[in-house]
Amino acid sequence: MGEVKFAIQCYCRDCQQISGGGHLPQIAVPTDQFAAEGKLRTYQTNSESGNVVEVAFCGECGSPLFKSTSKMPDVRFLCAGSLDDDLVNEPFQRVYEESRRVWDE
Ligand SMILES: [Zn+2]
Repeated sequence: MGEVKFAIQCYCRDCQQISGGGHLPQIAVPTDQFAAEGKLRTYQTNSESGNVVEVAFCGECGSPLFKSTSKMPDVRFLCAGSLDDDLVNEPFQRVYEESRRVWDE
């Protein structure tokens, strides 16, 4: 899995759509220390800011597992709720709060 670089709770529109909720909690780990196994499906899109974002979903149940962005190729963003272990034991830094939905507290 590799060392945790940072952890964010992202409210951007991309993360809302990936999660199907108001935000997506993510833990960033170094790309070169990360390997995924099992059946995955991937989806590629362009973010609002023009970066290429790729999301990997479980090939069985469709849950989002991790994502990457061309803006930061050195890290993979693990969807925190998909992990059995917490890895980080404090609240995540909130980003893109300007896109936060009024119903998401
Ligand atoms: Zn986001």
